[in-house]
Amino acid sequence: MGILKGVCSSCGKIIFREGRAPMTVVCDCYRRCPLCGAEMTPYKPDLDPKSYGGERNPDLEALGLTSGGSDSKIDVVFVCLRHSPPYYSRVKPVEVALE
Ligand SMILES: [Zn+2]
Ligand SMILES: [Zn+2]
Repeated sequence: MGILKGVCSSCGKIIFREGRAPMTVVCDCYRRCPLCGAEMTPYKPDLDPKSYGGERNPDLEALGLTSGGSDSKIDVVFVCLRHSPPYYSRVKPVEVALE
């Protein structure tokens, strides 16, 4: 059993894992607020459309309820509620290759 090492291309953090073969892990920096460093809350606009101000939400229809679009997945957006207005992040998880 050796120690694998890799550097996150997004935050520069060095990640160590025990393992025998090269692998890929996901750095957790996408969940961290870049402003204050707190762990952000997952924000899912499709949970309850009524809480976002309308019974019909054109954004939702554009995001996932139509077929044939090139982007069928709804991005998970993280929000940090410590700020006013809240900070919304669309940072994607970063895969880090360890070797
Ligand atoms: Zn990172
Ligand atoms: Zn924050």
